[in-house]
Amino acid sequence: MDKWNTRATIKNTSFLSTFFDKTKEGKSFFSYRMKRWIVVISIHLLFFLSFAIDIQTLEGTLNGSRILGFHLIDPFTTIQVFLATYHLPINVIIGTSTIIIFYLFVGGKSYCSWVCPYGIISEIGEKLHNTLVTKKIIKERKFDHRVRHIFWFMFIIMAFTSGYLVFETFNVVGILSRFIAYGWSLALGWVLIVFLLEVFFSRRAWCTYLCPIGTTYGYIGKVSALRVQWNDNCDHCMVCHDVCFENQVLDLTKAKYDKQREEKGIKTQYVTGADCTLCGRCIDVCHADALKFDFRLKGLV
Ligand code: SF4
Ligand code: SF4
Repeated sequence: MDKWNTRATIKNTSFLSTFFDKTKEGKSFFSYRMKRWIVVISIHLLFFLSFAIDIQTLEGTLNGSRILGFHLIDPFTTIQVFLATYHLPINVIIGTSTIIIFYLFVGGKSYCSWVCPYGIISEIGEKLHNTLVTKKIIKERKFDHRVRHIFWFMFIIMAFTSGYLVFETFNVVGILSRFIAYGWSLALGWVLIVFLLEVFFSRRAWCTYLCPIGTTYGYIGKVSALRVQWNDNCDHCMVCHDVCFENQVLDLTKAKYDKQREEKGIKTQYVTGADCTLCGRCIDVCHADALKFDFRLKGLV
């Protein structure tokens, strides 16, 4: 990917080229997309090996696991368990608290980009979707992303009223995680349906509109310490908007805020929206070096 000579939009770049970035001098290095994929694949390789050859490093699935003996529990799973059973074992409380504290530091929705196995499949779907839209084979369909809060609430109510973790039947993340750790199941057909929906109907629809796991991490992310930071090198080219599937969080990159910022002497700002997944795609493609990761609490450390 050569963002210095072409605008690195999804349309202008091949999927493979986005795994590498270049300095102005032409030196290649791993993009954030490459780094994320390495992290996601490594995590799931550990899940697989822990079961397959019993190395006992990262056991279980993304719903609930043990890393070197320490429990880790997904917060949305915990909420469902509590509402369905009115009971929370101490290990679940400890495992959930550990996860919440961790994501308070590294960004709530970073789970979606740096951990979730469906996230990387969805990125392939996004490229295919964009190609079909560019060739005018399908139309771009966008909905109000806030519908995710309604789905979140619906799944919570279902757990409460039925006494079952109803969402787990549809949970593509859990299905994939169990597939990687333990092997095939027919439920993979549902993952394929969701993927095809994203390719042919709406860009990254599961993550944008539906997934209550991501929504829960978003609630944590609202106050988390690691953020994307914008600076006034920005020339408002909007390439970051093109590559970001949650681009409502990048509203601050628009030129309409410049006058207000100049008056207040603001040169840098944080992307504070709860929906930022800290995927780093916007940083990868910015030709003005106007975006970077920054730790909000660094002054305290
Ligand atoms: S932050 Fe970078 S990619 Fe985004 S609009 Fe500004 S210059 Fe373009
Ligand atoms: S703002 Fe940047 S880091 Fe956040 S989701 Fe969008 S592309 Fe990814």
